[in-house]
Amino acid sequence: MHSNKAPLARRFNATFSGLVFGVVACLAVPLPAAAEYNLPSLGDTSSSIMSAQQEYQLGRAWLSMLRGAVPTMDDPLIKSFIEHHVYGIAETSQLEDRRLAFVLIDSPQLNAFAAPGGVVGVNGGLFLNAYTEAEFASVMAHELAHLSQRHFARNLQQQERMRIPMMTAMLAGVILAAAGGGDAGIAALASTQAAAIQEQRRFSRQNEQEADRIGLTNLERAGYDPEAMPDMFERLAQMGRFNRNPPEFLLTHPVTQSRIADSRNRAEQLANGGKSDSVEYQMMRARIQLHYEQSPGLAAQRFRILLEEHDGDHAAARYGLVLALTRSGQNEEAAKTLQPLLAEHPDDVAVNLAAVDLDISLGELTQALQRVDRLLKINPDSYPLQEAKADILLRARRYAEAERVINRLASQREGDPDVWYLAAEIRGLAGNIVGVHTARAEYFMLAGDLDQAAEQLDLAQVRAGDDYVRRARIDARKQSLAEQRATIENL
Ligand SMILES: [Zn+2]
Repeated sequence: MHSNKAPLARRFNATFSGLVFGVVACLAVPLPAAAEYNLPSLGDTSSSIMSAQQEYQLGRAWLSMLRGAVPTMDDPLIKSFIEHHVYGIAETSQLEDRRLAFVLIDSPQLNAFAAPGGVVGVNGGLFLNAYTEAEFASVMAHELAHLSQRHFARNLQQQERMRIPMMTAMLAGVILAAAGGGDAGIAALASTQAAAIQEQRRFSRQNEQEADRIGLTNLERAGYDPEAMPDMFERLAQMGRFNRNPPEFLLTHPVTQSRIADSRNRAEQLANGGKSDSVEYQMMRARIQLHYEQSPGLAAQRFRILLEEHDGDHAAARYGLVLALTRSGQNEEAAKTLQPLLAEHPDDVAVNLAAVDLDISLGELTQALQRVDRLLKINPDSYPLQEAKADILLRARRYAEAERVINRLASQREGDPDVWYLAAEIRGLAGNIVGVHTARAEYFMLAGDLDQAAEQLDLAQVRAGDDYVRRARIDARKQSLAEQRATIENL
């Protein structure tokens, strides 16, 4: 898997991603000043300065700038795990507008955030620190509650006066960073950030309590064990106690003993017997652990020890060991380790894709393709499977077929820059020059580089010649690009 696609992003890693929550908090500024009590719902625009649609566009424009400035992970299995589970939690939530967009940030630091426009961000580090699926879900339920209660709009009302200059400075920092200003942009961002966090702390306690309360109720409604929320808080409190540099999430979400006790009491009053964990979640954790381990060899050692401690009966440790062995080229041991897992989970997508990785490592592309095709019959719209199929066809130099697969996937995930990145690569090899430029334009629009997006659309138009249908489609994208630019400039 390639990651960190945005070329600028690589330089910035962990320091930057730790700042995210505050950036989000500052986004509250241009949102409508809703009445403090009796908040209008997202659909009710009559009492708002800014319509729900404008709020949506603003959030998405901000997301594209964020993507241009922080390193992201493009792991289809983890991305689709997050999407699937957060949509599941949203279903029983009070969130009215459920058009969500996700970003998976490549940082081992614990953080998660929600921004207006239904933007949900997760750091890789959340998987490291949430030990069970229910703990992961408890953080997501809390973040969704910030969205459903429109806390950003409420913050705005309290902080309107002082926030506007800070917002301007903050966005200047983000844009400078995204435009390649490098350290200067980061420094501008960091200094406004410090002030933002202090300000945020003063006003956010009520919002945090409300997000805890509503998030907890929803956690239980979504079928999870509500005790996971106080469990997660206790872990956070411990991290704060034993860590000289506590994770960013703790700065915006201070965990006090009363907060733990409060959520523990409430959880005990709710129905029990909800889901607490799953093999699937533990497998995703293993992927993340492998990603942040110094080397696949070291990861293999750790997974092997864990597996031996459980007498070979620990699916996630076995799964992690297979991936680590495959990545370090120990194909024979990987195949032997994989066997019992595949026997136990013959139709599992993650397990089969581990087998596909091994097939590819052995040069067995035909077998890899057969495996993916069999699973696609069961899950025809699976993102990880379609991506794997496109990848295998690309490796097999069957470019025309690869292009058909990636085009279908792009039509299903038109807001996903990772898919457009791969589409551009495949279309190039397939000789579809107009298609390369339009795919790159989509990628740059989603990754916050609007100048490059415009350039790619111009190139596409020149190459499209007299093809009226294509020209019309390119014109429509130019229009969208102009709208996105106007949204950003109006910030
Ligand atoms: Zn919160």
